[in-house]
Amino acid sequence: MFISARRKLTAWYLVILMSVSISFSIVIYRGMTAEIDRFTQLQRVRIERRFDDAGLPRPPILIDRDMIDEAKQHIILNFLGVNGIIFVVMGGLSYFLAGKTLEPIQEMVEEQHRFVSDASHELKTPLTAMKSSLEVYVRDPKLTLGEAKQVLLDNIQEVNRLQSLSESLLTLSENQSNNSQHLLAQISPKAIITKAYNQVKHSADEKKIKVRIVSIPDRKINGNEEKLIELFTILLDNAIKYSPEGKSVLIIGKLIKHGIEFRISDKGIGIDEKDIPHVFDRFFRSDSARSRAGVGGYGLGLPIAKKIVEFHKGSIHIESKVDNGTTVIVFIPLV
Ligand code: ADP
Repeated sequence: MFISARRKLTAWYLVILMSVSISFSIVIYRGMTAEIDRFTQLQRVRIERRFDDAGLPRPPILIDRDMIDEAKQHIILNFLGVNGIIFVVMGGLSYFLAGKTLEPIQEMVEEQHRFVSDASHELKTPLTAMKSSLEVYVRDPKLTLGEAKQVLLDNIQEVNRLQSLSESLLTLSENQSNNSQHLLAQISPKAIITKAYNQVKHSADEKKIKVRIVSIPDRKINGNEEKLIELFTILLDNAIKYSPEGKSVLIIGKLIKHGIEFRISDKGIGIDEKDIPHVFDRFFRSDSARSRAGVGGYGLGLPIAKKIVEFHKGSIHIESKVDNGTTVIVFIPLV
């Protein structure tokens, strides 16, 4: 698909470049021939004037038209040669430029393909499970009302999970577009973190996890409030989700060079060293996260978090040790 697009774009570049080059050649050719005609005319007048000044009768002045035509043909041949060279050189250059122009588009399209196939895979698995369980129960003549209700309840749970998956996919795709139209304002980091904490408070209380918020600098960040709340909600949610009951989670803020560094630390299950480079990949979940019953997720939280941080021109990275806890370090510039 991209090969033919590249060829077409090359052809368009060449058409534009050659039209410019040929137009210039025609203009220059016209100018040169007009100059030759003017020069010949001038010569004739000068010779006649010399004869007039000397008081001699004017002889017939014959101009060699063949020579002039030959000169004009020479000019045409030169222009053809130059345009031929331009065609070959510009052809190569256009092909190269077409490739460079299409490169980011190709990457984007490939990324979209991967996104759609990953997403459909994630959606397909629970849908297939739901469909087959419903089909089995529908065919069962001995199905009691109680059993039927249980099946429906199980399916509602599955539907809820699918709903949260589709919401996460939507958020990721919104953040993927990196739309700079998102409203920016001067935001207090303290307010953001408090709002994010309120979103996860219920699950923290359920697991008796204490969340401590320490020394958040009293400076404003130029950012998008909704996105930043989402970022800290994801990170706090993970810290709580991957911590055993009764542990604590700590958020520390520190003003460093034109920005604020936030550290969100937990004393949870930690991440295997080999998994750390992959945690920002879409749909990645470590084996320990998958194997833990009751710990839901689709591996979309950290990719969304990364996009939000990139939108704010900041950085995010993770330090972690298995069974020793995890610290996510986020840097957000003030302006
Ligand atoms: P999800 O939590 O929905 O699985 P994320 O993208 O938020 O997806 O995280 C990706 C993976 O990174 C998780 O599945 C888990 O393996 C690991 N991870 C993220 N945060 C933590 C944490 N605080 N402690 C331990 N593991 C974590």
